[in-house]
Amino acid sequence: MPQETDARLASGYTIKVRAYAKVNLTLDVLGKRPDGYHELESIMQSIGLYDTLEFKNASSGVQIHCSHPEVPADESNLVYKAARALQERFGLAGGAEIRLEKAIPVAAGLAGGSADAAGALVGLNALWGLHLSQRELGEVAAGLGSDVNFCLTGGTALAQGRGERITVLPAAPNFWLVLLKPRFGVSTAEVYRGLDLKAVEPLRPDTVAMLNACVVNDFDAMAAGLRNVLESVTCRLHPELNELKEALLRAGASGALISGSGPTVFGVVPDEEGAGEVAAALMGIKATRYVTSTHRKGVEVERTGGPADRIGQGAG
Ligand code: ATP
Repeated sequence: MPQETDARLASGYTIKVRAYAKVNLTLDVLGKRPDGYHELESIMQSIGLYDTLEFKNASSGVQIHCSHPEVPADESNLVYKAARALQERFGLAGGAEIRLEKAIPVAAGLAGGSADAAGALVGLNALWGLHLSQRELGEVAAGLGSDVNFCLTGGTALAQGRGERITVLPAAPNFWLVLLKPRFGVSTAEVYRGLDLKAVEPLRPDTVAMLNACVVNDFDAMAAGLRNVLESVTCRLHPELNELKEALLRAGASGALISGSGPTVFGVVPDEEGAGEVAAALMGIKATRYVTSTHRKGVEVERTGGPADRIGQGAG
């Protein structure tokens, strides 16, 4: 075991990271592959909504603490899977105790679980003193889920393949978002099952135009180009989402779209003041409102330090 890791174990060293949610500015499904996955093309954008993960060394095993009622604290949690994948791939003996505080709504189309998995890879890389490169972490991420690679990279990026092939793009215009998350969640698998590729042909995004809008920093072109082929399926399953979208546009958003497979609907606004006005106009709507802006990273280390008696009680 490296000396550095020894010292961290002895001191009760803790690491705290922020794992950011995403929205899809475009989402296109190009076809179905022989392996059963869909071939995707999506421009993804990190936003300022984040979960917090705190890590502490343990002599063995991986333990997750999470009080959110819809998030499992067992082996099915993506944070657990990320930790185990690192342990197995690099033959690590040590364990970790991980506290997860959810702020990203669950099953919302905002990649909350994937963000947490990316956060776990970054946090454990630091906690265990692994010194893995972004590329090595990316290899582990690809085995955990389609959105984990994007969450690891963050900012603005083009995702291809199952979503795991990431090309970093110049940052999209910095803008604000008002998100509306209805009470229900949506199963991504069910949405893909309902997708008829011929029927969505007229709804496909112009990915190149969106790429250009990002490159030349053109907010209006970005707002006009928001498209997601999954939207029609999700709206067919939950027609009330059309009303949320229209409400955002009526309230003054420059464009509105469902993120991923939904059900979160987001409206885009050029500035903070405008976003506040849109959110205020939607008071009383049957959905939780979030106001945030674009973010340039997928994962940020908020604090490294120790000692701490119990995870969650460290300095900072
Ligand atoms: P995507 O946008 O990638 O489709 P999502 O935002 O729609 O994802 P998640 O919030 O990731 O959905 O949750 C999907 C399911 O994954 C939930 O039903 C939850 O039980 C499970 N899950 C496993 N680990 C986590 C985690 N760390 N955070 C949230 N959900 C998790």
